[in-house]
Amino acid sequence: MSFKELGLSDLTLKAITELGYTEPTPVQKLTIPHVLKGSDVVGIAQTGTGKTASFALPMLDILSSGKAKARMPRSLILAPTRELATQIGENFVKYGKYHKISMALLIGGESVAEQKKILSTGVDVLIATPGRMIDMFERGQIIMTGIKMVVIDEADRMLDMGFIPDVKKILSWVKTTRQVLLFSATMDKEIKEIAEKFMTFPKEVFASSPSTAAKTVNHTVVYTADATKKRRILCDIINSEDIKNAMIFCNKKREVSSLYNVLRDKHYSVCQFHGDMNQHIRTATIEAFKNGDFELFVCSDAAARGLDLPDVSHVFLYDAPYKPEDYVHRIGRTGRAGKEGKAFTLISDDDFKALAAVEKNLGRPVILNKDFGDPSLYKERKVLAAKSKFISKVNPNKHKPKPPTLSKLERENKEKEEKLRKEELFRAEEQRLMSERRRQEQRQLREANPYMSPRRPAADQHKHKKGASDKGRTKDKVAFGEHMPAFFGIKIK
Ligand code: AMP
Repeated sequence: MSFKELGLSDLTLKAITELGYTEPTPVQKLTIPHVLKGSDVVGIAQTGTGKTASFALPMLDILSSGKAKARMPRSLILAPTRELATQIGENFVKYGKYHKISMALLIGGESVAEQKKILSTGVDVLIATPGRMIDMFERGQIIMTGIKMVVIDEADRMLDMGFIPDVKKILSWVKTTRQVLLFSATMDKEIKEIAEKFMTFPKEVFASSPSTAAKTVNHTVVYTADATKKRRILCDIINSEDIKNAMIFCNKKREVSSLYNVLRDKHYSVCQFHGDMNQHIRTATIEAFKNGDFELFVCSDAAARGLDLPDVSHVFLYDAPYKPEDYVHRIGRTGRAGKEGKAFTLISDDDFKALAAVEKNLGRPVILNKDFGDPSLYKERKVLAAKSKFISKVNPNKHKPKPPTLSKLERENKEKEEKLRKEELFRAEEQRLMSERRRQEQRQLREANPYMSPRRPAADQHKHKKGASDKGRTKDKVAFGEHMPAFFGIKIK
């Protein structure tokens, strides 16, 4: 099937022919006719399949008739990241070369004043990240009633980034008669809910299974028993492979920076990219990597999806990803548009659990690379890791009954008891200090009056008052030699 058969206009066909697109990709074949007919579409398509053109090309044709009014955009495309929004904008410029369509980007990190100015001139296609879109709407800079088409791109990524409530909010502001197109690599519960609530009998398009990697990617796992050797192994692979340019994914931003420093110190041509970096530096880094200024791009998952960085010959996963579906997104950065690519995942014992999740998601094991690391130990360690997981499952302590929790009444009683105990301790301490002070005063008094005897303890006085027997008192007398009762008159030495 050709692009012409899909029903696209001559102006659009001219632009894509110039770009060298000869045949539509599967997602384009399935999506474009539905969009042109005005249907809502849910597209399950992984990155690199040509899904941007699948909505951008028919949108251009639909919007070619009509004119935008000030602050009233005619269509809205929501993207999770600034980079993805920028990239969609670049595609619109290329595909819309022969159309008179105005476009604006509404993304964080850019001048609000500038964006307000563009909006006031009226735009046909507004490409926005959810946060900035809400901000501008709440400032009264956007009137939503003119929006006829809404695209939610990378909905699964929106979900990961916590944007789904924002997306719902924005959709609730748009008129119910609009056409909605939603694209996602996975179909989670929350994404299904959006489709059910905000879309009208959407056509479902499955361009590829969400958990499959492109067939043109040769992806293997490299095992090392010693995690500290990962850096050396990574350098070994880079040195032995014919790398045009490569992306190296790390799970943590901190790891991105430290690996970048190590590679830079070893004089590799390397740049880094992660979400904590300033927006302008991020944009400049992507441009520089696209232009071939750097060979290696060390990054976090912020670069795993959406970014169109053509000709990435190799992908390295410095760790197995936390989320199994990120494996597909990461390795999806290579082998794009039918090109060959290679992906290496470096793992040590700590990564076995994550690898098991990746393999479960893929539905098959990732092949072991026998050229690097400690391949001879892999099988044994993998079995051991699986067993230790089993042992932890049957660990008797795991199901040990927890101590019963106290009821409110018991808790109150306990608190009362504790309060009383503290009060008692306090009183005892007070008494001790008082008697200590008394003893001190008596000592001072005795020193001042050497013939005065100290007072006999009360219990002893009581005994004598009652005329108790003197039996056994000799010892007492001796013992009390120092403490003879005052009424004895003179102290016996
Ligand atoms: P996307 O999935 O939209 O990010 O597209 C991935 C890459 O495929 C981009 O570089 C597009 O320019 C390219 N592409 C999209 N559609 C086609 C097509 N029909 N023929 C050749 N390349 C395409």
